[in-house]
Amino acid sequence: MNEHNRVAEGWLQLGTTLSHAARPTPDERGCYVNPPVTRGSTVVFPSLEAMQRQGATRYEHESIYGAMGSPIQHELEKAIAVIEGGTDCQIVSSGLAACTLPLLAFLSAGDHCLFSDSVYGPTRRFAENVLRRFGVEISYFPPMAEEKELEAFMTPKTRVVFTESPGSHTFEVQDIPMLARVAHRNNAKLFVDNTWGFGIFAPFAHGADLSIQALTKYPAGHSDVIAGAITVAERKTWEQLRDTAIQTGQVAGPDDCWLTLRGLRTMGVRLAQQARSALDLAVWLQQQPEVAQVLHPALPDCPGHALWARDFTGAGCLFGVVLDSRYSGQDMERMINSLRLFGIGASWGGYESLVLPTTGGIQRAFASPMGKASAFRLQVGLEQTSDLVADLQQAFKQLHTA
Ligand SMILES: *Cc1c(COP(=O)(O)O)cnc(C)c1O
Repeated sequence: MNEHNRVAEGWLQLGTTLSHAARPTPDERGCYVNPPVTRGSTVVFPSLEAMQRQGATRYEHESIYGAMGSPIQHELEKAIAVIEGGTDCQIVSSGLAACTLPLLAFLSAGDHCLFSDSVYGPTRRFAENVLRRFGVEISYFPPMAEEKELEAFMTPKTRVVFTESPGSHTFEVQDIPMLARVAHRNNAKLFVDNTWGFGIFAPFAHGADLSIQALTKYPAGHSDVIAGAITVAERKTWEQLRDTAIQTGQVAGPDDCWLTLRGLRTMGVRLAQQARSALDLAVWLQQQPEVAQVLHPALPDCPGHALWARDFTGAGCLFGVVLDSRYSGQDMERMINSLRLFGIGASWGGYESLVLPTTGGIQRAFASPMGKASAFRLQVGLEQTSDLVADLQQAFKQLHTA
């Protein structure tokens, strides 16, 4: 199969699951196709006994109060758990909350947590500014580390290895089964921020203990929702996570859950198209004399490409572009400012294209694959591919006008 189909394959395979997950079963009176939105804080009961009985079911996603999640939140949790392949899921208020909550749930003072150097910037800042303050030791490993090298970063206190594959700025695809082996050998858990790989990478089949999603990205898909999800591989990890979610007041609003479930229904076709378009743009960019390297996991010169080919059933719509070293940051700025179809903005996974510089401001403990060159990342939306190429073509002229 050529790469053009390969990047879309997994998205199309998801279609049946996305169409049927978390749907009500019709009874004799019939029912609407979609679960309804229920807005509320207080839940009232006919007796104290009934309230206590319901309270005891909190691990079954039931609630006695709105801060423990609404019925539509629990429907969304079921759908995400099915897609990730885990036993249970907790929806939280943002993708970042989905990164921080499991660290709060499973780390204590005196523990060590090992992060991939390519980890999402705000997760890194949480580790540096909050976890350290509570006595958790933090260190980083180079994302492309081999098994022996990684083993040397583990300490007797390491309880969690946290990674994101591929990194959303530098796109290193990592060997998750190997990371899981090393973590488990050392009595630690492996947490994966699977935002890029949602639906096309099965975290638990590859050894992860917990998977994190920014639902804000592909599932919501329309740049109008902030939400996150944490899914676990096994029931035994679930209770501590669920208790911490309740204890920290983590919840998402019912309307955001409903919008995310609605977005999820069309995620497969949206992303199949966006993944094909992104690869077409990546290949076009590779052929431009202004470009030094394109960091897209489906391209052979992306770090970890062979791991992508082994472990993923498709590709995302976000990738990186490194400009030739003769172009300064100012050259790139002129180029980015003159793009018409690519909005300048954070985030990704929506239906519209975006651009963001990725040089400067990104903290790394080890060398980044982009070096010091001017670089940017593209989020590819549903615009016609040839229109996006034409936009890049006209903007690239700005690189030469200094
Ligand atoms: C966007 C993002 C997050 C955070 O999601 P928000 O909903 O924006 O808080 C976490 N991890 C990755 C990899 C992301 O790209």
